[in-house]
Amino acid sequence: MKISENIPISKLTTMRLGGNARYVIEVTSEEDVPEAYLFATKHSLPVYVLGSGSNIIGRDGGFNGVIIVNKIRGMGIFADEENNRIQLYANSGELLDDFVQYSTKLGFTGMEALSAIPGTVGAAPVQNVGAYGQDISQTLVLVRAYDTMLEDYVELMKIDLDLSYRHSIFNSGRNVGRYFITKIIVELKRGELKPPFYNSLQKYLEDNGILEYSPETIRKAVRAVRESKLPDPTEIASSGSFFKNVYLTSPEEIQAAEAKGIPVWDGGKIPSGWLIENAGLKGQVFHGMKVSDKASLVLINESAQNYADLAAAREEIIKRVYDRFGYTLEQEPMELGE
Ligand SMILES: Cc1cc2nc3c(=O)[nH]c(=O)nc-3n(C[C@H](O)[C@H](O)[C@H](O)COP(=O)(O)OP(=O)(O)OC[C@H]3O[C@@H](n4cnc5c(N)ncnc54)[C@H](O)[C@@H]3O)c2cc1C
Repeated sequence: MKISENIPISKLTTMRLGGNARYVIEVTSEEDVPEAYLFATKHSLPVYVLGSGSNIIGRDGGFNGVIIVNKIRGMGIFADEENNRIQLYANSGELLDDFVQYSTKLGFTGMEALSAIPGTVGAAPVQNVGAYGQDISQTLVLVRAYDTMLEDYVELMKIDLDLSYRHSIFNSGRNVGRYFITKIIVELKRGELKPPFYNSLQKYLEDNGILEYSPETIRKAVRAVRESKLPDPTEIASSGSFFKNVYLTSPEEIQAAEAKGIPVWDGGKIPSGWLIENAGLKGQVFHGMKVSDKASLVLINESAQNYADLAAAREEIIKRVYDRFGYTLEQEPMELGE
């Protein structure tokens, strides 16, 4: 367990903003986790758990607390293949993309569309990560986590996690901050993948004459599609999609949107990227934050000096979209600090 003091949150997060954290503790085993919480309790400081910081934005005032950075590694087969199904486990500090690669190399389907999503395995259930028609809720069996209320390890079955679009008990409601996830188990299938795939993926497969649909070929295609439009967080500062998609719940709302020529997908989803692009914001720079010219939902930190710049850019974009279409966009990444 490594303890450091006064570390900039900007160095721990892919948007590269935010003041100092009082303490940062790197944990590499399940035994380290209760110890790290004990350290925080002894110093009467709050705790924040971080994976690779790709969905967290640091605020300027920093965090007078303890950030626990998760480096608990390891993955493998949890239950051998039976009836074309297998259960795999990954410890939460593994990169999700490495776990996906492991699964596709074994020839199993269920996670291939999650290829190249930045971040750790432990963060995947927190916002129920998803892309290209898959999300982690479709394959997750359970998570193992340190429960800070019980001060013990627990296993939480998928049904207890209340997973839906960008939502779980880990990011909403009274249990936020209660659990440190240390392991997940997923169940995957062997078998043929059947088209049609998600729109942009299907188009890529057709354009490139790819007719063999194995978990590996779909993984490669997803990586290629993502590389063509999403920034690599090791090179370009961003948190990926900055706004959530808009979800309409009543037939009247859907009718009203369609009457205005706004696309409504999957029975209620308005792609926020479409709203931003059609409000004329694609490629524009606000306070050092650029609306990506390849994917309008992504905000890139080109030269923002601090969180205040990002907040000003966000308000401007929300206002411009609201004035044009009447929908209020909601930020996707969470925030850390004062
Ligand atoms: C370029 C780019 C593209 C992206 N594309 C997608 C995409 O297609 N789909 C998608 O869903 N997301 C996407 N994201 C968002 C991000 O990749 C995911 O949210 C990812 O799961 C974050 O992982 P992380 O390890 O960086 O988590 P962090 O940002 O470090 O943490 C995210 C949240 O999870 C909590 N957390 C992290 N680890 C644990 C743990 N072990 N136990 C309990 N809580 C924990 C944190 O406290 C925090 O609340 C993208 C981000 C970027 C930068």
